Amino acid sequence: FLKPIDKINALMEMYPKGMAGFRRFCDLIDTEPDVKDAPDAIDVPSLRGDIEFRNVTFGYEPHTKVLRNVSLKIRAGETVALVGPSGAGKSTICSLIPRFYDVDEGEITIDGIPIKKMTQHSLRSKIGVVQQDVFLFNGTIRENIAYGKLGASEAEIMEAARRAHLEDMIRELPDGLDTVIGERGLKLSGGQRQRLAIARMFLKNPPILILDEATSALDTETERIIQQALEELAVNRTTIVIAHRLATIRGADRIFVVNGDGIAEEGRHEELLAQGGIYARLHRAQFGETLVT
Ligand code: ATP
Repeated sequence: FLKPIDKINALMEMYPKGMAGFRRFCDLIDTEPDVKDAPDAIDVPSLRGDIEFRNVTFGYEPHTKVLRNVSLKIRAGETVALVGPSGAGKSTICSLIPRFYDVDEGEITIDGIPIKKMTQHSLRSKIGVVQQDVFLFNGTIRENIAYGKLGASEAEIMEAARRAHLEDMIRELPDGLDTVIGERGLKLSGGQRQRLAIARMFLKNPPILILDEATSALDTETERIIQQALEELAVNRTTIVIAHRLATIRGADRIFVVNGDGIAEEGRHEELLAQGGIYARLHRAQFGETLVT
């Protein structure tokens, strides 16, 4: 009887910290009562992941629009990188896809179906979000991974851990998957936390993935492993990355440059560099590379 209460207590302790990290995506569910299922909302059984914004205008406040008349298409299975200065609206675009907010004007569709016509539950079950600050609770590694799919089997959890390159670490622990993490257990490094979040996503297996790439420095080897795990995770999924790393940006099928109130430029890395516009300037400022590649 006491064990669950202890867990709830631990969760309550973790809550403010976890929520700070999840603020942009998850906190919104509670603070936005305006987002409601339509009376005739449909439970979408599956989605391919063709995403389209049609003339979307959106602001958190009625008189301050963050996005104006934004139109974009992301094809199923494609990996796109959102780049742009701080405050440009990259996270906002990502928050609109799981419908954490409703658009003021225009429409967002997935596979041609307006997201407003889907139940929020069925829509969000098709979208995985990997944030910079991973929300972990004070339970076992098993429980933290299984958070991606409640009721997952041992084999599924181990497979997800393997694909996220966590298997070796788990094998070396005396309690393996049952090792408690958090306040009273194993302390995980930043890289391990990210891999745990990736394991959750392999388990959840959503057709659409939103990645908010970490800005914090990791050692080169850890970064390589995480990059590799993320690339594997992105295979056969529509992936939208708020990108900070040059390797991600270069590897993307397309880059959207978010600036001011919308998409200023769109194309592949080389194309955008050749244009000599905003992307080329941003790229030079961020990575210090010359325009000639
Ligand atoms: P960064 O790279 O710094 O994360 P970003 O490009 O993701 O920035 P957004 O977080 O989408 O930008 O923010 C776009 C604008 O919307 C900013 O002016 C920001 O202050 C504002 N904004 C973001 N979230 C909220 C919110 N929950 N309520 C009110 N305004 C918000």
